[in-house]
Amino acid sequence: MMQANIKYLTNVHFDVDAAAVLPALLADLNVARPLLVTDPTLIEIGLIERLGLKPVAIYDQVRTNPTEAGAREALEQYRSHDCDGTVAVGGGSSIDLAKAAGLLVEHEPPLSNYALIHGGAERIRGDRLPPLIAVPTTAGSGSEVGRAALVTLDTGRKLALINPKLIPDAAVCDPRLTCSMPAGLTAATGMDALSHCVENLCSPDDNPIADAIAIDGLERGWHHLRRAIDHPNDLEHRREMMVCALAGGMTFQKGLGAVHALSHPLGALERLNLHHGTLNAIFLSHVLEFNLDACQEKMQMMADRLGLTGPADLPGAFADLVRDLGLPTSLGAMGVTADDLRPLAEHALADHCSQSNPRPMTVEDCAALYERARSG
Ligand SMILES: [Zn+2]
Repeated sequence: MMQANIKYLTNVHFDVDAAAVLPALLADLNVARPLLVTDPTLIEIGLIERLGLKPVAIYDQVRTNPTEAGAREALEQYRSHDCDGTVAVGGGSSIDLAKAAGLLVEHEPPLSNYALIHGGAERIRGDRLPPLIAVPTTAGSGSEVGRAALVTLDTGRKLALINPKLIPDAAVCDPRLTCSMPAGLTAATGMDALSHCVENLCSPDDNPIADAIAIDGLERGWHHLRRAIDHPNDLEHRREMMVCALAGGMTFQKGLGAVHALSHPLGALERLNLHHGTLNAIFLSHVLEFNLDACQEKMQMMADRLGLTGPADLPGAFADLVRDLGLPTSLGAMGVTADDLRPLAEHALADHCSQSNPRPMTVEDCAALYERARSG
């Protein structure tokens, strides 16, 4: 038997209109001069204004696949306004960028020093991180309770900075905030959340508590994602999707798998700046097929919970879901060429997530999976 390593300690405020607790939370954390990190769309649609926050500085230029340069710009705002904490409002990109900017407040650049695969986890000092409150407006990344920040570094690689101290001090999960998402973003971020539940469940790391959370999250996401798109203002579906995202985020401790290992290097591709969740949606069915015999018990568990006949139905069922959601079904449809993919198989293998895929991967496997996902 492997030894289980189980960790839970996260402060989550989860409710419709939970955002009302933000002023009290800031006071609890002794944050008097917060920096707000967000993206231009949330400013434009008035969501930020509705929160009634009174930040002393705003960094609102977060884009999908946040960059080290973006983290530096946010840091500049933080320093020039003498901030003492951060509130990140947005999707995984805003939360991850806020984590990276907070890290740089008292850690020497460059960020590559702190990348997990460069041995950086132990260079992150928890006593040198300013308070961070995460307010997700998508139901996807789980970064609000996750210990990782995925950032495209100055080196051009999209790598993970990982340390439990990067878990936000508080997560404010208010399903109402996710009603503003258009259908495409609901679908793409929802598929990210589902892929977290699948990959964390299938990771060979022994953690039965996390498995129970992941399978529960998967079931909720499976039943509510289509409905959240058909009924965007229905708070029950939005709530269930937010639980799915949290379940994915709370089980990251087991490690993800090939979907994320393949997705991260592609997310660094500057020319296309591809959405993480959309990429995962494309990879998921191919990776399920690849892993099918490597974790039969988990596959059976998923098939049972999703009402499928058996594990062999899983890849097709997820491919159908992606099609129903109106997401692209191949990398080719997103403009990715064979030339783009050629250098990435090695990066996928080196990604921290390939270590916890249930079936050991080779560079040839990564190249073959990329090719299958490209042609669809
Ligand atoms: Zn993800």
